[in-house]
Amino acid sequence: IPVDPFDLVIFGGTGDLAQRKILPALFRRFCSGQWAEGVQIIGAARTIHDRAGFQTMVAESLRTHAAAQCQDEGALRAFLDRVDYVTLDGYSNEGWDQLSDKLNQDRVRAFYFSVGPRLFGPLAERIKAHDLATPSTRIVVEKPFGHDLESARALNATLAAHFRESQIYRIDHYLGKETVQNLMAVRFGNMLFEPLWNSQYVDHIQITVAESVGIDGREEYYERAGAMRDMMQNHLMQLLCLIAMEPPAKFDPDAVRDEKSKVIRALDQVQPHHIVRGQFDGGGSGKGYSETVGNPRSTTESYVALRAHISNWRWAGTPFYLRTGKRLVARSSVINVMFKDAPHSIFGEEAGRHANVLSIRLQPNEGITLKVTIKEPGPGGMRLVDVPLDMSFAKALGSGNQDPPDAYERLVMDVIRGNQTLFMRGDEVEAAWAWTDPIIAGWHARGDVPKPYESGSTGPGDAELLMKRDGRRWQGIN
Ligand code: NAD
Repeated sequence: IPVDPFDLVIFGGTGDLAQRKILPALFRRFCSGQWAEGVQIIGAARTIHDRAGFQTMVAESLRTHAAAQCQDEGALRAFLDRVDYVTLDGYSNEGWDQLSDKLNQDRVRAFYFSVGPRLFGPLAERIKAHDLATPSTRIVVEKPFGHDLESARALNATLAAHFRESQIYRIDHYLGKETVQNLMAVRFGNMLFEPLWNSQYVDHIQITVAESVGIDGREEYYERAGAMRDMMQNHLMQLLCLIAMEPPAKFDPDAVRDEKSKVIRALDQVQPHHIVRGQFDGGGSGKGYSETVGNPRSTTESYVALRAHISNWRWAGTPFYLRTGKRLVARSSVINVMFKDAPHSIFGEEAGRHANVLSIRLQPNEGITLKVTIKEPGPGGMRLVDVPLDMSFAKALGSGNQDPPDAYERLVMDVIRGNQTLFMRGDEVEAAWAWTDPIIAGWHARGDVPKPYESGSTGPGDAELLMKRDGRRWQGIN
């Protein structure tokens, strides 16, 4: 769908996220021919650059992060022609008049806060003070959105002092993944799944966000955050909401976010014996966590697994097992909906147990598969095998060899179009912190110390026990 001309200001335009994700995503959208003439992208950061210097920096990043599109030199040049730069300080008045001079009237104006969270408030205040906010202005804020409930409330209040909720886009890039949206299509576009989507037919649900990388370059932030704040409170919680929510009446921002918010509010407080914290040690492959952050006594978790319960009619009795960690055996984000066994096997004991599993894979190899049981082909009698049914239909839709669009491509264009469905609302974020805070407070009160796990493993052994005690086991990380 084509979009009208817009002005997009990227605060922190010279930073890692802007150069590695946002600008390449914008370039790919530009190459798709979706934009009208006159779109303007303005980098704004403290680093001193002139326009040409910033364009050179952007070109280098695009050659690395959007290499395929950069084959077309003409497209690259045309994109760079739309890129401008202002040296600007979020804490002072430096650069704001120059920014004001570059902005056009009567068009969508978006400000992307790709800077540390300390700057969110000062930037919001200066946009207002310099009279840069128009009725069609939107602001995009990156994670982390607060450190706990109190700070998230304060941040919401600061933003609300200057902008309406309908102008605030809190980004969680997991929601921009093609498969996550496909999950909603599968759930609510088919008759087949929704009748089974409850505790009567679903034994349990597993959500895994495993990372093979450590925390290099983010030591200071991570040591204060840990896996609970960095991943569980936002990304895993958002995935849990989409899997567990009731069907919204419409696919519109408030209908969807109302349902997600209800899921978070229905979560029981997690029992201490249903949580496992871990911290990676060096093993054979490099430094352990405490060495990386330079604090031998660090009790920050780089891994957390927990069993959550949603106290509502649909999910009473169906546990949700969530786990996330750094330096694990592979990078893999997947949701597994584990259906119950058929009530009776007509094929006898030998046929074994064959429960259906719906796997929603976010990365790598985005896609949705349904494990179904069929007869093993051949004359060998009635032997059963499980086969994955590919539900992403990438090949059928003719996009078999094409990577799905990056989450940022989708999300940035949603900002321009004014569609908040895939962005977190203020009350959702606060509810997620209200659930997270007591867990963290409990660790502090008990003097809890994370269990060590080997780098390159699947996490601490206690996480296996968490499942085993319930007669279940994690699906493999791969
Ligand atoms: P970064 O340190 O690489 O970049 C920060 C940017 O902010 C730079 O352009 C810098 O010039 C600018 N800046 C700093 N102080 C400023 C000031 N006073 N006035 C104006 N500009 C100023 O950080 P990053 O990794 O790009 O992260 C940016 C934000 O995005 C952070 O909130 C981070 O938590 C979040 N985030 C980053 C990633 C990632 O992969 N890098 C992923 C998710 C979220």
